[in-house]
Amino acid sequence: MALPYLMLRLLIDFADVPLLVRAATLGGLIASVVAFATGGSPLDPAVTLFIVGYFAAVSLYAAFGFVRLARRSSGVTRRRTQAVASGMGLFGLAILVASVSTIVPSAAGFVSGLTQVLALFAALSWVLGFVPPAQLRRFWQQPELRSFLERAGTLPRLPTTEAILRELERGTGASFGTRAAIGLYRADGEVLNFANSYGAIAADVPVDGTSLAARVFRSQTAEYFPDAARANPENAAAYREAQVGPVLVAPITAGDRRIGVLETFAAHQPVFSSDDLALVELLADQAAVILESRALIDEAARVQAQEAAARLKEDFVSAAAHDLKTPLTTLLGQAQILELRAGRDASLAPHQPAIGRIAREARRLSALVEDLLDASRIEEGKLEVRREPVDLAEVLKHLAERSRPQKHRIVLEANGRLAGSYDRRRIEQLVDNLVENGLKYSEGEAKVEIRAWREDGEIRITVRDHGIGIPAADQAHVFDRFHRASNVDARSYAGIGLGLYICRGIAQEHGGRIWVESAVGQGSTFHVALPGADEGKLN
Ligand code: ADP
Repeated sequence: MALPYLMLRLLIDFADVPLLVRAATLGGLIASVVAFATGGSPLDPAVTLFIVGYFAAVSLYAAFGFVRLARRSSGVTRRRTQAVASGMGLFGLAILVASVSTIVPSAAGFVSGLTQVLALFAALSWVLGFVPPAQLRRFWQQPELRSFLERAGTLPRLPTTEAILRELERGTGASFGTRAAIGLYRADGEVLNFANSYGAIAADVPVDGTSLAARVFRSQTAEYFPDAARANPENAAAYREAQVGPVLVAPITAGDRRIGVLETFAAHQPVFSSDDLALVELLADQAAVILESRALIDEAARVQAQEAAARLKEDFVSAAAHDLKTPLTTLLGQAQILELRAGRDASLAPHQPAIGRIAREARRLSALVEDLLDASRIEEGKLEVRREPVDLAEVLKHLAERSRPQKHRIVLEANGRLAGSYDRRRIEQLVDNLVENGLKYSEGEAKVEIRAWREDGEIRITVRDHGIGIPAADQAHVFDRFHRASNVDARSYAGIGLGLYICRGIAQEHGGRIWVESAVGQGSTFHVALPGADEGKLN
């Protein structure tokens, strides 16, 4: 008697049923029980007809309810809902057929057989709908799963990570016939970020919180929660509002890298079974591979863009330096002529400081442009080295004695001849760069010591200062282009980080090496080793 009413209760669990229908069904149940209890035997045909009509109407209503539900769902859930709907329909039909015997008593035997067959099929449909065997469930999942996995290979190429996440969620949702969401781990805030959050569920979930996603993220094992609200009462209201009932959660992890979690959830039971854990884990692994490939593609694109930008900068710097060179040479020449004249002509005396400044700045600019040109020559492997027999001791002596404002701070220690085949101008430029740095990066009257000697067939030169030193982390990079150590800034120390790059280029072009030893606050020693001439060929 209660069966139609129970079927309606079942529908209420899954869909909205108008109050009037609920009340009518309950009223119908009470009326049929009363009619059955008070009616004699056999029942009055009118009463029988009423009871049969009631049974058929309610089960057909429930059947249509499930058909509508099936239309709105997808994947395996759709197929299961269809099976339940067929069960309801067959049951309604069985009752209608049964009622024929009251009108045509002679057909009772055939009718009873047919009713039983229909009822059997109805029961079978319910079993398939509510508790499908694992094999069948998997078979039902296959079409969506296969089409998702076939597309998976192309997903990393989607334009944005956002688009990939949405596709992964859509594919997972379709495979289960439910909804799905991915939460990505953000180390900066220690949260799982759900860009596609549902209703009242927060977009950022703290990883040390009680949420189901956080728990699975911490334990790194997939879990099935038959009822989200019961598993995490703290969040029950939000789950209800977002219509989240049973939930499957799996960690998305690539090797040691914890990327996030994949959740799939439905509004009602029984949608999942514990068998589905394996599937959600498989999909989470798939997501990990796709997101990891995406990260690699992004990284490659970033490196490529960086290289392109560096090339562009190089081209620009080299073109600008070329264009600056000619007018600067003229400017410097004119400034030097003026400087000379001001020295001789007393009438120009008041302007001497200004003229001196112009000449000095023009020299500085010119040196800078030369550095830029040298750096781009080194970059292109076109630094020309014109070798000739050179005595380095003589070169260093000349360099130390050259007039410059800080000349008195330079100390030279070099004995005997240090002969080899070098580009005199370039070697002078190299050592001069090191000496100028030594002067620039040390305070007051601290000395800068140049030492040179012959060792194992090599000419060794060191330039040592007692200045600010170079932090250990920067020592490997100070020879890179435009690299300046973290303890210098443009305001206190002029420079653009090209000098040492050029020094290394010159040393290498001569088949030599350059390196540094340094301690912050104590000073630096730059070492240069150049191939020397054979002792026998010194003269
Ligand atoms: P620049 O001096 O124009 O910055 P360099 O290529 O000559 O460029 O030097 C690169 C960086 O190495 C400098 O910015 C500085 O941080 C560090 N450096 C070079 N020489 C010294 C030194 N003698 N003492 C301390 N730091 C130095």
